[in-house]
Amino acid sequence: MERYIRNNILSLEPYSTARDDFKGGDISVWLDANESPYPNGVNRYPDPHQKKLKDRISRLFNIAPESVFIGGAGSDEAIDIVFRVFCEPGNDNAIAITPSYGVYKVAAAINDVEIREVLLNDDFSLPAERLLSAADEKSKLLWICSPNNPTGNAFPKKDILEIADRFDGIVIVDEAYADFSEKGSLIEDIDEHPNIVVLRTFSKAWGLAGLRAGIAIANKNIIKYFDRVKYPYNMSSIIQNELLRHIEAGTGNHIPETTEEREKLAAGLRKVNCVKTVYPSDANFILVKVTDADDLYGYLIDNGVIVRNRTHMPLCADTLRITVGTPGENRRVLKLFKNYKSICNETPGERRTSTVCRKTSETQITVAVDLDRNIESYIDTGLKFLDHMLWQIPHHAGIALDITCHGDLEVDEHHTMEDVAIALGETLLKALGDKRGIERYGFVLPMDESRAMVLIDLGGRIDFQWDVTFTREYIGDTPTEIFRHFFHSLCCAMKCNLHISARGENNHHIIEGVFKAFARALKMAVKKDEFNYELPSSKGIL
Ligand code: PMP
Repeated sequence: MERYIRNNILSLEPYSTARDDFKGGDISVWLDANESPYPNGVNRYPDPHQKKLKDRISRLFNIAPESVFIGGAGSDEAIDIVFRVFCEPGNDNAIAITPSYGVYKVAAAINDVEIREVLLNDDFSLPAERLLSAADEKSKLLWICSPNNPTGNAFPKKDILEIADRFDGIVIVDEAYADFSEKGSLIEDIDEHPNIVVLRTFSKAWGLAGLRAGIAIANKNIIKYFDRVKYPYNMSSIIQNELLRHIEAGTGNHIPETTEEREKLAAGLRKVNCVKTVYPSDANFILVKVTDADDLYGYLIDNGVIVRNRTHMPLCADTLRITVGTPGENRRVLKLFKNYKSICNETPGERRTSTVCRKTSETQITVAVDLDRNIESYIDTGLKFLDHMLWQIPHHAGIALDITCHGDLEVDEHHTMEDVAIALGETLLKALGDKRGIERYGFVLPMDESRAMVLIDLGGRIDFQWDVTFTREYIGDTPTEIFRHFFHSLCCAMKCNLHISARGENNHHIIEGVFKAFARALKMAVKKDEFNYELPSSKGIL
């Protein structure tokens, strides 16, 4: 391996830390490292050799601890170290597939190393001959990402091994997403192929992106140079301990759910008209080719969903990369894709729609409403009972309603209830526009033994009356006293008169009746009389 290592690194005398001289023994007084002697959990330096962690990780991957390098800035540190250990700045070059993960190129530029990008084949397969013929005697590195970001496909192991056998340099295989793939890992091949370096990260399948821990696995004659070059204390004791804790507990591993959801999402996307191709994925994301990536990207953002627009990457025109989310998040994305199609087919200006995104330190809410179409709705506030109630609105008002809320439910339900009501009211008011042609008023309905009356006037003046009595403190996860506040907030945000009264015995029926009657009242009030373009007011203004 030595012949691939930079000369100055071969002869590098690494920094020796205070603890390197310590060979064990019964020490109770530590006065060697100029640390503070006062305990606070982190007053001592961490183990620079990360011995415990290396042992644990080596058992995880069934390899020798000497084959493991641990980086404290996710994969970024390992990527940078590869350049620093092997490439002479301003002289050597590296080869990389494209499209692929952008950090290889940035790390090359930082280290003043020329990068030669080789386009994947049109079907995203590895262009072995073109990769090898891009190399000359100064090509030290060849970067392959498998499963590849953003294309999502893993390359067959035999194709990578063949390249490694024929390339006179180091082949780095970034397996950040390999946990989601069934195509196998190159970790088991490092002994027979000593020029392969495999990168792994704890940011993806392990769910620890915030921790920033990545690893490189390779022949021990490579890893020893990585360890010499790294900053001595590159992993804080907090990260080391947390990582050990998570590995021990085996938490964060949602691989089966993620791959199952990936296939469901892919199947759903294939049915949507604006999606032209759903590329097969071995990762936790899906690349899709759509009719107009820029437009769809903007539409998704307007609706509170962000994906990655990859349209400007080679071979990726009009593509979006979508991370597989929770089942609820994936349903919402699918719904937005479906509605985008139907919205595209309509003449603009026909429909009264609006979206309000409301962000405070307590809640993050997106509400979208379409008063003129009963297309699929989506509601997820984190409060199951509130969701159940809110579903009455699209159902009984015959409108489309999307509500997503991430609220501080760990405090209590108050902020979520209040802010959802405000955002809902604002969205409805905005969608009503100039109110021309609307019926303006709107309802009384029975629900079994209960009766709910909701009177509404969208005239623009605010008055709220509430005459509803509950006999239980809670219904589901929601305290009953909050419903008055919910409708009051909604009323103020919608600038309307809202008089609500309800009687009954069953508390669930009472409040469900109120939501239903509100929806019906809303339906009547927002309905447009096709032949009447007048303002429903003798004053001439609403
Ligand atoms: N490798 C690839 C291919 C990636 O896509 C990413 C993240 N997007 C990473 C590495 C970075 O992972 P980390 O969080 O460990 O820096």
